[in-house]
Amino acid sequence: MNNVRVRFAPSPTGSTHIGTARTALFNWLFARKEGGAFVLRIEDTDKERNTQEALNELIEGLKWLGLDWDEGPGKEGAYGPYFQSQRNDIYAQYLQTLKDKDRAYEKDGAVFFKLEGDRYTEYDDYLKADVEKVDTKPVVIEDIIRGKVTRREERDFVLQRSNGDPSFHFVNVVDDIAMKITHVIRGEDHLSNTSKHVELFNAFEVEPPKFAHLPMILKNPKEGKGKMSKRDKGALISEYRERNFLPEAVRNFIALLGWSPKDDQEVFSIEELTSRFSLEDVQKGGARFDEQKMSHLNFEYMKAMPLQAYVLNGKRSLVKSGLIEESTDASYLEAVLALCQEKIDSFENLPGFAAYFFSDQYEINEKAENKVIKKEGAIERLQELQPRLEVVQAWNQENIESAFNELAAEKQLKPFAWYPIVRFAVSGTNSGPDFLPMLEVIGKERVLSRLEKTIANYS
Ligand code: GLU
Repeated sequence: MNNVRVRFAPSPTGSTHIGTARTALFNWLFARKEGGAFVLRIEDTDKERNTQEALNELIEGLKWLGLDWDEGPGKEGAYGPYFQSQRNDIYAQYLQTLKDKDRAYEKDGAVFFKLEGDRYTEYDDYLKADVEKVDTKPVVIEDIIRGKVTRREERDFVLQRSNGDPSFHFVNVVDDIAMKITHVIRGEDHLSNTSKHVELFNAFEVEPPKFAHLPMILKNPKEGKGKMSKRDKGALISEYRERNFLPEAVRNFIALLGWSPKDDQEVFSIEELTSRFSLEDVQKGGARFDEQKMSHLNFEYMKAMPLQAYVLNGKRSLVKSGLIEESTDASYLEAVLALCQEKIDSFENLPGFAAYFFSDQYEINEKAENKVIKKEGAIERLQELQPRLEVVQAWNQENIESAFNELAAEKQLKPFAWYPIVRFAVSGTNSGPDFLPMLEVIGKERVLSRLEKTIANYS
């Protein structure tokens, strides 16, 4: 391991946002690519807003996405503890250092950071009061994504509140120093804090880490303009889990939120992502959220899955929907799922797609009903086919096909004159898995009873 050390520093205050997961992923990819350390630091100084639930969700989310940390909760390292709420002695020492350097002072019970420069008083339009300002030198932030960013702090800011709690800016910088962080990769919303942070690094006489501020994630244009909010569809990691998206696909999707390789490739194994990722290739402008891309990636990953893994995931989704029991016949389930693979882009859609394989209570597609079964002659087609299927002995694709072919030859028609009608009778719709394999898997008994029922219902 070289000396590259990055940290993901979430505050566990609510549901995990996709932007938070992206910050974690980009830090993780950078650490893995550089052979450095990925540190998980929990910024839990806001007692009122932190919850155990949010922390659990965050940890579960990281594990689900396969983002393992080298140091952090459950993985103690040389720079712990990794919860800020357990680091008060460290903060007290660092605060003392600033006081000793005459860079901190008390006022109204709080401790302030003292900027360097001449002081003057000026009326502030926003605060509607006279405030003390400092004629400071501008701070130059070297940002890997944005280049040089110049900002100026002109007012002293709080290091420790009057209730004794340290401020976010203070603990964030102290921990980056104490944990020997070399690169700070975080959302663009923190860019406005970075000048404060650089002032603090300078006061401690520590060279600031390199910064990389990631672009905001923008709403899907269909949903409106501006930054994606927690209420937007697709904003929360829990939603992807509940919808049974594959974590590998979600991870791939998140990687493309602001980063892209120099070519058109979209599907990346984790090894490829790690070797091709670079902060220099992260865009400055907002990253557009595109739900269709998520579905497309999920489809690609579902297609590429080994059947056993597909069955495992598919079963979970079917059990969850109540369509099947845990004890469902394994070989039938496997046969059905083998037909479904490559046909749908999400396990979320599997119960709807495959319901008729497991239950007689499935939805009837009205469009298909009008187009196929309510057409003149459709029921006669089923009636003439019925006896042909009844006599099929070994119920397999070849024999089923022959039954159709023989009938078609006699009537001087193509077998396709029957296929959609039979598909509708068996499944209630006009699309689905390949037709003959579907008839084979669903079984002779079910096929015949559904033909019978359809003839009765529509005659
Ligand atoms: N706790 C901060 C947040 O969740 C961390 C900011 C940083 O990465 O420096 O936004």
